[in-house]
Amino acid sequence: MWIDTHCHLDAAEFGGASGAVAARAGAEGVSMIVIPAVERGNFDIVASLAAGTSNCSYGLGIHPIFVPQATEKDLALLREKVAAAVDDRRFVAVGEIGLDFFIPQLKDGALREKQEYFYVEQLKIARDFDLPVLLHVRRSQDTVLKHLRRMKVAGGIAHAFNGSLQQAQMFIDLGFKLGFGGAMTFPRALQIRRLATTLPLDAIVLETDAPDISPAWLHPQRNSPEQLPRIGNALADLRSISAEEVASATRANALAAMPRLASLFG
Ligand code: ZN
Repeated sequence: MWIDTHCHLDAAEFGGASGAVAARAGAEGVSMIVIPAVERGNFDIVASLAAGTSNCSYGLGIHPIFVPQATEKDLALLREKVAAAVDDRRFVAVGEIGLDFFIPQLKDGALREKQEYFYVEQLKIARDFDLPVLLHVRRSQDTVLKHLRRMKVAGGIAHAFNGSLQQAQMFIDLGFKLGFGGAMTFPRALQIRRLATTLPLDAIVLETDAPDISPAWLHPQRNSPEQLPRIGNALADLRSISAEEVASATRANALAAMPRLASLFG
Protein backbone atom coordinates (compact mmCIF):
# COMPACT_ATOMS: atom_id res chain seq x y z
CA MET A 1 0.00 0.00 0.00
CA TRP A 2 1.67 3.15 -1.27
CA ILE A 3 0.76 6.84 -1.09
CA ASP A 4 1.65 9.23 -3.91
CA THR A 5 1.75 12.51 -1.97
CA HIS A 6 2.04 14.76 -5.03
CA CYS A 7 0.55 14.08 -8.46
CA HIS A 8 -1.02 16.51 -10.96
CA LEU A 9 -3.51 13.94 -12.15
CA ASP A 10 -5.73 16.59 -13.73
CA ALA A 11 -2.94 17.67 -16.12
CA ALA A 12 -3.69 17.73 -19.85
CA GLU A 13 -0.93 15.14 -20.38
CA PHE A 14 -3.29 12.47 -19.06
CA GLY A 15 -5.59 13.15 -21.99
CA GLY A 16 -8.80 13.08 -19.98
CA ALA A 17 -8.09 9.53 -18.77
CA SER A 18 -7.19 10.59 -15.20
CA GLY A 19 -9.79 8.33 -13.59
CA ALA A 20 -8.46 5.31 -15.48
CA VAL A 21 -4.87 6.20 -14.52
CA ALA A 22 -5.89 6.41 -10.84
CA ALA A 23 -7.59 3.02 -11.12
CA ARG A 24 -4.50 1.44 -12.69
CA ALA A 25 -2.30 2.96 -9.97
CA GLY A 26 -4.71 1.51 -7.40
CA ALA A 27 -4.30 -1.92 -8.98
CA GLU A 28 -0.52 -1.50 -8.60
CA GLY A 29 -0.94 -0.88 -4.87
CA VAL A 30 -1.17 2.92 -4.80
CA SER A 31 -3.90 3.30 -2.21
CA MET A 32 -3.91 7.11 -2.21
CA ILE A 33 -2.93 9.88 -4.64
CA VAL A 34 -2.89 13.52 -3.46
CA ILE A 35 -3.71 15.98 -6.25
CA PRO A 36 -2.66 19.58 -5.54
CA ALA A 37 -4.39 22.45 -7.29
CA VAL A 38 -2.28 25.06 -9.07
CA GLU A 39 -4.65 27.98 -9.84
CA ARG A 40 -8.28 29.07 -9.49
CA GLY A 41 -9.08 27.42 -12.83
CA ASN A 42 -8.51 23.93 -11.45
CA PHE A 43 -9.86 24.23 -7.87
CA ASP A 44 -13.15 22.55 -8.84
CA ILE A 45 -11.46 20.13 -11.24
CA VAL A 46 -9.17 18.54 -8.64
CA ALA A 47 -12.10 18.30 -6.18
CA SER A 48 -14.39 16.55 -8.64
CA LEU A 49 -11.59 14.32 -9.90
CA ALA A 50 -10.94 13.15 -6.33
CA ALA A 51 -14.67 12.68 -5.72
CA GLY A 52 -14.95 10.42 -8.75
CA THR A 53 -12.23 7.97 -7.67
CA SER A 54 -11.74 5.61 -4.75
CA ASN A 55 -8.08 6.49 -4.17
CA CYS A 56 -7.61 10.24 -4.69
CA SER A 57 -7.66 13.30 -2.45
CA TYR A 58 -6.74 16.91 -3.15
CA GLY A 59 -5.26 20.21 -2.04
CA LEU A 60 -6.27 23.76 -2.91
CA GLY A 61 -3.76 26.50 -3.61
CA ILE A 62 -2.08 28.84 -6.08
CA HIS A 63 1.25 27.53 -7.44
CA PRO A 64 4.07 30.11 -7.69
CA ILE A 65 4.24 29.65 -11.46
CA PHE A 66 0.61 30.84 -11.66
CA VAL A 67 1.18 33.84 -9.40
CA PRO A 68 2.01 36.31 -12.23
CA GLN A 69 -1.58 36.20 -13.52
CA ALA A 70 -3.24 35.70 -10.11
CA THR A 71 -5.09 38.51 -8.34
CA GLU A 72 -6.31 39.43 -4.89
CA LYS A 73 -9.69 37.96 -5.92
CA ASP A 74 -8.06 34.57 -6.39
CA LEU A 75 -6.85 34.64 -2.78
CA ALA A 76 -10.37 35.53 -1.61
CA LEU A 77 -11.81 32.70 -3.71
CA LEU A 78 -9.21 30.29 -2.32
CA ARG A 79 -10.18 31.20 1.24
CA GLU A 80 -13.87 30.63 0.38
CA LYS A 81 -13.16 27.30 -1.31
CA VAL A 82 -11.01 26.12 1.61
CA ALA A 83 -13.72 27.10 4.10
CA ALA A 84 -16.26 25.07 2.11
CA ALA A 85 -13.89 22.13 1.54
CA VAL A 86 -13.30 21.60 5.25
CA ASP A 87 -16.48 19.49 5.15
CA ASP A 88 -15.11 17.38 2.28
CA ARG A 89 -13.09 14.47 3.63
CA ARG A 90 -11.11 14.25 0.36
CA PHE A 91 -9.69 17.73 0.95
CA VAL A 92 -6.40 17.30 2.81
CA ALA A 93 -4.10 20.36 2.47
CA VAL A 94 -3.43 23.86 1.21
CA GLY A 95 -1.29 23.52 -1.90
CA GLU A 96 0.51 23.69 -4.08
CA ILE A 97 2.04 26.90 -2.78
CA GLY A 98 5.60 28.14 -2.42
CA LEU A 99 8.37 30.05 -4.15
CA ASP A 100 10.15 29.47 -7.46
CA PHE A 101 13.41 31.39 -7.85
CA PHE A 102 14.63 29.03 -10.60
CA ILE A 103 12.54 30.56 -13.38
CA PRO A 104 14.44 33.72 -14.41
CA GLN A 105 11.35 35.91 -14.96
CA LEU A 106 10.04 35.06 -11.49
CA LYS A 107 13.09 35.45 -9.34
CA ASP A 108 13.64 39.22 -9.31
CA GLY A 109 11.81 42.44 -8.67
CA ALA A 110 8.06 42.80 -8.59
CA LEU A 111 7.29 39.16 -9.42
CA ARG A 112 9.53 37.93 -6.65
CA GLU A 113 7.69 40.20 -4.24
CA LYS A 114 4.34 39.06 -5.61
CA GLN A 115 5.36 35.42 -5.15
CA GLU A 116 6.31 36.06 -1.53
CA TYR A 117 3.04 37.94 -0.94
CA PHE A 118 0.91 35.07 -2.35
CA TYR A 119 2.96 32.51 -0.44
CA VAL A 120 2.50 34.32 2.89
CA GLU A 121 -1.21 34.98 2.30
CA GLN A 122 -1.73 31.28 1.60
CA LEU A 123 0.23 30.32 4.71
CA LYS A 124 -2.27 32.49 6.61
CA ILE A 125 -5.17 30.54 5.11
CA ALA A 126 -3.51 27.27 6.14
CA ARG A 127 -2.88 28.61 9.65
CA ASP A 128 -6.46 29.92 10.01
CA PHE A 129 -7.94 26.53 9.09
CA ASP A 130 -5.22 24.49 10.84
CA LEU A 131 -4.26 22.74 7.61
CA PRO A 132 -0.90 21.41 6.39
CA VAL A 133 0.72 22.89 3.28
CA LEU A 134 2.18 21.29 0.14
CA LEU A 135 5.26 23.33 -0.72
CA HIS A 136 6.95 24.00 -4.05
CA VAL A 137 10.53 24.98 -3.19
CA ARG A 138 12.86 25.70 -6.10
CA ARG A 139 16.10 27.64 -5.42
CA SER A 140 14.12 29.24 -2.60
CA GLN A 141 14.75 27.04 0.45
CA ASP A 142 15.91 29.79 2.77
CA THR A 143 13.11 32.23 1.92
CA VAL A 144 10.45 29.51 2.18
CA LEU A 145 11.85 28.57 5.58
CA LYS A 146 12.06 32.19 6.74
CA HIS A 147 8.32 32.65 6.25
CA LEU A 148 7.50 29.27 7.80
CA ARG A 149 9.29 30.32 10.96
CA ARG A 150 7.18 33.49 11.16
CA MET A 151 3.88 31.98 10.11
CA LYS A 152 3.38 28.77 12.03
CA VAL A 153 1.31 26.23 10.11
CA ALA A 154 0.36 22.64 10.89
CA GLY A 155 3.36 21.18 9.01
CA GLY A 156 3.11 19.60 5.60
CA ILE A 157 5.47 18.51 2.86
CA ALA A 158 8.40 20.16 1.06
CA HIS A 159 7.73 18.47 -2.26
CA ALA A 160 10.47 17.31 -4.67
CA PHE A 161 13.02 18.18 -2.03
CA ASN A 162 16.30 19.33 -3.50
CA GLY A 163 18.16 21.25 -0.80
CA SER A 164 21.10 20.69 1.51
CA LEU A 165 21.19 18.42 4.55
CA GLN A 166 21.08 21.52 6.74
CA GLN A 167 17.98 22.86 4.97
CA ALA A 168 16.36 19.41 5.22
CA GLN A 169 16.98 19.47 8.95
CA MET A 170 15.34 22.91 9.24
CA PHE A 171 12.18 21.65 7.52
CA ILE A 172 12.18 18.59 9.77
CA ASP A 173 12.56 20.80 12.85
CA LEU A 174 9.48 22.76 11.72
CA GLY A 175 7.49 19.50 11.56
CA PHE A 176 7.69 18.99 7.80
CA LYS A 177 8.20 15.84 5.75
CA LEU A 178 10.34 15.86 2.61
CA GLY A 179 9.03 14.53 -0.71
CA PHE A 180 11.23 12.22 -2.80
CA GLY A 181 10.40 10.81 -6.22
CA GLY A 182 11.79 10.16 -9.67
CA ALA A 183 14.83 12.42 -9.22
CA MET A 184 16.45 9.96 -6.77
CA THR A 185 16.36 7.19 -9.41
CA PHE A 186 19.07 8.92 -11.48
CA PRO A 187 22.57 7.70 -10.55
CA ARG A 188 24.01 11.19 -11.14
CA ALA A 189 21.62 12.83 -8.64
CA LEU A 190 24.22 12.37 -5.92
CA GLN A 191 22.96 14.95 -3.44
CA ILE A 192 19.31 13.81 -3.59
CA ARG A 193 20.35 10.15 -3.35
CA ARG A 194 22.55 10.90 -0.38
CA LEU A 195 19.66 12.65 1.40
CA ALA A 196 17.22 9.86 0.52
CA THR A 197 19.69 7.36 1.95
CA THR A 198 20.71 9.14 5.15
CA LEU A 199 17.76 11.23 6.35
CA PRO A 200 15.69 9.62 9.08
CA LEU A 201 13.10 7.39 7.40
CA ASP A 202 10.35 9.11 9.37
CA ALA A 203 11.10 12.38 7.52
CA ILE A 204 10.43 10.98 4.04
CA VAL A 205 7.29 10.75 1.91
CA LEU A 206 7.08 9.47 -1.65
CA GLU A 207 5.66 11.24 -4.67
CA THR A 208 5.66 11.01 -8.45
CA ASP A 209 4.88 14.66 -9.32
CA ALA A 210 3.36 13.06 -12.45
CA PRO A 211 3.22 13.96 -15.28
CA ASP A 212 6.59 15.57 -14.41
CA ILE A 213 9.87 14.24 -12.91
CA SER A 214 9.82 10.84 -14.64
CA PRO A 215 12.02 8.17 -13.05
CA ALA A 216 15.19 7.10 -14.87
CA TRP A 217 13.54 4.03 -16.44
CA LEU A 218 10.77 6.10 -18.01
CA HIS A 219 12.52 9.34 -18.92
CA PRO A 220 11.69 11.23 -21.17
CA GLN A 221 8.18 9.73 -21.33
CA ARG A 222 5.56 11.30 -19.10
CA ASN A 223 5.38 10.11 -15.52
CA SER A 224 2.37 8.39 -13.92
CA PRO A 225 1.26 7.51 -10.37
CA GLU A 226 1.55 3.86 -11.41
CA GLN A 227 5.33 4.35 -11.04
CA LEU A 228 5.13 5.03 -7.30
CA PRO A 229 5.74 1.42 -6.11
CA ARG A 230 8.85 1.13 -8.28
CA ILE A 231 10.08 4.51 -6.97
CA GLY A 232 9.49 3.16 -3.46
CA ASN A 233 11.54 0.10 -4.35
CA ALA A 234 14.36 2.38 -5.52
CA LEU A 235 14.33 4.05 -2.10
CA ALA A 236 14.39 0.63 -0.42
CA ASP A 237 17.47 -0.30 -2.48
CA LEU A 238 19.23 2.96 -1.58
CA ARG A 239 18.59 2.38 2.13
CA SER A 240 19.14 -1.41 2.01
CA ILE A 241 15.80 -2.12 3.64
CA SER A 242 12.71 -3.95 2.39
CA ALA A 243 10.12 -2.39 0.13
CA GLU A 244 7.49 -3.30 2.76
CA GLU A 245 9.33 -1.25 5.35
CA VAL A 246 9.53 1.73 3.00
CA ALA A 247 5.84 1.40 2.11
CA SER A 248 4.61 1.27 5.68
CA ALA A 249 6.94 4.03 6.95
CA THR A 250 6.25 6.46 4.12
CA ARG A 251 2.54 5.80 4.42
CA ALA A 252 2.62 6.59 8.15
CA ASN A 253 4.65 9.72 7.37
CA ALA A 254 2.11 10.88 4.76
CA LEU A 255 -0.68 10.42 7.28
CA ALA A 256 1.30 12.36 9.88
CA ALA A 257 1.85 15.20 7.38
CA MET A 258 -1.79 15.22 6.23
CA PRO A 259 -3.89 13.93 9.16
CA ARG A 260 -7.16 14.37 7.23
CA LEU A 261 -6.08 11.45 5.02
CA ALA A 262 -6.78 9.09 7.90
CA SER A 263 -10.55 9.37 7.45
CA LEU A 264 -10.18 8.03 3.90
CA PHE A 265 -8.63 4.83 5.15
CA GLY A 266 -11.71 4.10 7.34
ZN1 ZN B 1 3.52 20.10 -8.21
